Amino acid sequence: MKPYGLVIDDKACWGCKACEVACKQENNAPDGLKLIKVLEDGPKRVTGRLQFQFKVQACKHCAKPACVKACSFAAISKRADGIVVLESAKCTGCRSCLEACPYAAIVFDETKEVALKCNLCHHRVDQGLLPACADNICLGHGIHFGDPAEIRQKIAEKRKLRGGRGEIIPKAISYSRTAHP
Ligand code: SF4
Repeated sequence: MKPYGLVIDDKACWGCKACEVACKQENNAPDGLKLIKVLEDGPKRVTGRLQFQFKVQACKHCAKPACVKACSFAAISKRADGIVVLESAKCTGCRSCLEACPYAAIVFDETKEVALKCNLCHHRVDQGLLPACADNICLGHGIHFGDPAEIRQKIAEKRKLRGGRGEIIPKAISYSRTAHP
């Protein structure tokens, strides 16, 4: 079993929201709803200069997902490879998962009365493709998919080249899956 994960380097985010567009294009979420979201903080003074800071929010495919436990209708499950999938077709609209998720990663489609979330583009991943948000669309090169340890190492090297301290540790949305044939 080779470890894979979606690794998001918030420090690299420019706030362009290309990930939101790619996700919407791929997953066709209703207008007003986002399965991946760029949160904006600022402008505020950081070491004397006004700056915006960004944080990318999406399902973390938790090791022990509270949403799976909360759903009484088996509409959410964790696959053997670790991806947490919400099947809207099985959703009864009870919203228990929205309350259970500690990361506010689930949204609600009021028209269809079903919950929605990032399923890590499993339809693409199963074909050996990248999730839409990680498919080279991030202008800041901040969203990566692959072996989290290798990705962290590359990000550390990039920061050193730019004169940073090489300190790292972007939040990893980690899960494991078998290597693709
Ligand atoms: Fe974890 Fe929330 Fe994603 Fe469920 S929806 S796996 S609780 S982040």
